[in-house]
Amino acid sequence: MKCPFCSFEESKVTDSRNSSETNTVRRRRECLQCLKRFTTFESVDLTFQVRKRDGQYEDFNQDKLTRGIDMACRHTSISHQQVRAISSKITADLMERQVREIDTTELGEIVMKNLYDLDQIAYIRFACVYKRFKRVDELKDAIEHFSIETI
Ligand SMILES: [Zn+2]
Repeated sequence: MKCPFCSFEESKVTDSRNSSETNTVRRRRECLQCLKRFTTFESVDLTFQVRKRDGQYEDFNQDKLTRGIDMACRHTSISHQQVRAISSKITADLMERQVREIDTTELGEIVMKNLYDLDQIAYIRFACVYKRFKRVDELKDAIEHFSIETI
């Protein structure tokens, strides 16, 4: 990391702080040449790919995930804050597992599991959109199958 004042390449770290909220490390540095101080931030590279239904890939986007869950949770007891918490938790889990790519099917299952624990109506709504059920039977099957799995 070059000094922003004199461009010298070496500096020493005088202080280091973790922020668990944003998953960043803040470092206070001192330039070994001009002795001026500056701050750097280090964070995890959040990019991994989502494989969509049509086979195309796109960068994972936490806001997009949040919006999708938000839509499923409309008119349920789940608040926007809870949705944001679910979305952050899922993102953190995927990062921890060091996932490089995930397909929408698997991502959907993870969301459904999280919703199921919180509010079953939200779960059913999300399942309807996500699995694109054409018949009521398919929905019933999915609910029964899912219930058995989680017990
Ligand atoms: Zn310097």
